[in-house]
Amino acid sequence: MELNTFNEGLLEFLGQSPTPWHAVSNMAGMLDAAGFQRLDEGDPWSLAPGQGYYVVRNESALVAFHTGRRSPAEAGWRMMGAHTDSPCLRVKPNPEIRRNGCLQLGVEVYGGALLNPWFDRDLSMAGRVTYEDDQGRRRDTLVDFRRPVVVIPSLAIHLDRDANSSRSINNQQHLPPVTLLTAEHPDTDFEQLLAQQLRADQPGINLRRILEHEICLYDTQAPARVGMAGEFITSARLDNLLSCWLGMQALLASDGTQPALAVFNDHEEVGSMTAEGAQGPLLESVLQRWVGGEDRHRALARSMMMSVDNAHAIHPNYPEYYDDAHGPVMNEGPVIKINRNQRYASSTRTSGLFRHLSGELGVPCQTFVVRSDMGCGSTIGPLTAAGIGISTLDVGVPQLAMHSIREMAGSRDAHSLYRVLRRYFELDSLWD
Ligand SMILES: [Zn+2]
Repeated sequence: MELNTFNEGLLEFLGQSPTPWHAVSNMAGMLDAAGFQRLDEGDPWSLAPGQGYYVVRNESALVAFHTGRRSPAEAGWRMMGAHTDSPCLRVKPNPEIRRNGCLQLGVEVYGGALLNPWFDRDLSMAGRVTYEDDQGRRRDTLVDFRRPVVVIPSLAIHLDRDANSSRSINNQQHLPPVTLLTAEHPDTDFEQLLAQQLRADQPGINLRRILEHEICLYDTQAPARVGMAGEFITSARLDNLLSCWLGMQALLASDGTQPALAVFNDHEEVGSMTAEGAQGPLLESVLQRWVGGEDRHRALARSMMMSVDNAHAIHPNYPEYYDDAHGPVMNEGPVIKINRNQRYASSTRTSGLFRHLSGELGVPCQTFVVRSDMGCGSTIGPLTAAGIGISTLDVGVPQLAMHSIREMAGSRDAHSLYRVLRRYFELDSLWD
């Protein structure tokens, strides 16, 4: 796929995927359109060679794969992983707060959100709902308000003169967004607003009552190409829907001759220890059902995982937070992440393979190592490596403002990584 088409698709995907459930639903749509067959974890599976399949768990994690024309025991699996979740604010189960003339919503912080940028934004809400229909049956559906419906206003600087040097945020006190004035809407509650939205979205819906909801706040400003020469992409959720997009496109574009798989886990931002997270058994369960017994161990020994998650580009205003020789620059290529204490799973062999492929394709490539006097973040790479015992690489595009409501990346790096990944999915031999 050519660069501009790739980027247009990326921006559209980011804009239409305000939550992990929307991202997975959109990815399932792409796989359906490409002729991949959906598998149900509760059914018996019989996988045919040369076919594409996918499976969804909890509507928030997805594994897609090509069985390929060769047996995994002989060829090994070419795998990539990314995560579907991003830090955000999520509406509490009983969210109504009525005070000082305003109806506000109680929110919980999901993951390590950078909170300041959430203030003074035109926010919307999206998520999933379980409801009871007219016949008393339970149904699940997605919901998206699409328009700005809530705002978290800042306190004026006149009332807090030190705001620019020392404003701190109390999550319980300062984050509830305003959604209505109670004088005009004295009795409105959140479930009424949700039900109204569902009925507007789905005129035929048989909705008796809402049983449960899980709703994320998100910025209504659309993802964009920015910069004097359009060198940048800005959007929410670049970490890590950008990697979901490029992994999915690489799998779809690859020729399908080799056993190849892409796993998109949920819950990376909260530690991955869930049924659909990278510390859970989702990937393992798919691999077991694909190849069992002795052959599975042979396949694993010949396989590789590329854990794709964004890296920290060097920030021109804060260079002191980076190691001088390992500060990646936007649009100068994907970043191999290395940490000798194994916070990243990259090894000499896996990084060497990536550099080799990049060189063949003429794609530039950079390296990130955290400063020796700072702690290092981590990814799903080490979890997968330890969980299933497989050679792993941690790699990703450089970005700024990670975990902000508006993140920033170069406009060429995602496409470069897509090209390397596609080539990797088609590699005849990984290690021989
Ligand atoms: Zn991430």
